[in-house]
Amino acid sequence: MTNYVINPAPIPSVAVAGRDARFPVRRIFCVGRNYAAHAREMGHDPDRDPPFFFTKPADAVVDDGATVAYPAQTENLHFEAELVVAIGKGGRNIAQDSALSHVWGYAVGNDLTRRDLQAVAKKLGRPWDWAKAFDRSAVCGPLHPVEEVGHVDKGRIALSLNGETRQDSDIADLIWSIPEVIAILSASIELQPGDLIYTGTPEGVGAMVPGDICAVEIEGLGRLTTKIGPRE
Ligand code: MN
Repeated sequence: MTNYVINPAPIPSVAVAGRDARFPVRRIFCVGRNYAAHAREMGHDPDRDPPFFFTKPADAVVDDGATVAYPAQTENLHFEAELVVAIGKGGRNIAQDSALSHVWGYAVGNDLTRRDLQAVAKKLGRPWDWAKAFDRSAVCGPLHPVEEVGHVDKGRIALSLNGETRQDSDIADLIWSIPEVIAILSASIELQPGDLIYTGTPEGVGAMVPGDICAVEIEGLGRLTTKIGPRE
């Protein structure tokens, strides 16, 4: 047994639908732009950009139903409805045609973003970390195992804020499919069991304020509800 000079942190985890056991989270990778209409609303040409990634700390995960305090240092906290892919089997240089065999399950996610800090980072050529990788920034619903729901390559993805629909698209509109994302990501880093991949958000992103209720739904994967609490 290793001795540590301070207590090691608990293992971050996300819920699994219908089970007591949880899925341990190792790392969180996020695709930057993966729906053409969202790339356009952010001022980019969707056809020209290959996928790129940013990360969040594993302990940024937040369960369904939790209240997320309005984070510090922003006046423009945005929601981003996303399909989350959970990796059950690691690998390097994974081929597209075997990529789905590495997926353990799927969940509904919300990639919380400090959009004003992201705009500054983009303008100054700085990293996105402070815009994306803050505490409680990776909201993730219960995982649905592949053995129960199969693979997800289409279906409605929608987000409502206080009951009003704000994002409404289809997983089939992903620019880069799940097998392509896994192949490209695993060419850069060795994927490991426990890694989560947030696969990008469709158009319609927008701001939230304390007291808002944000709900994300993906066909076949249920609903993920988050309340925005007072400023931290
Ligand atoms: Mn995102």
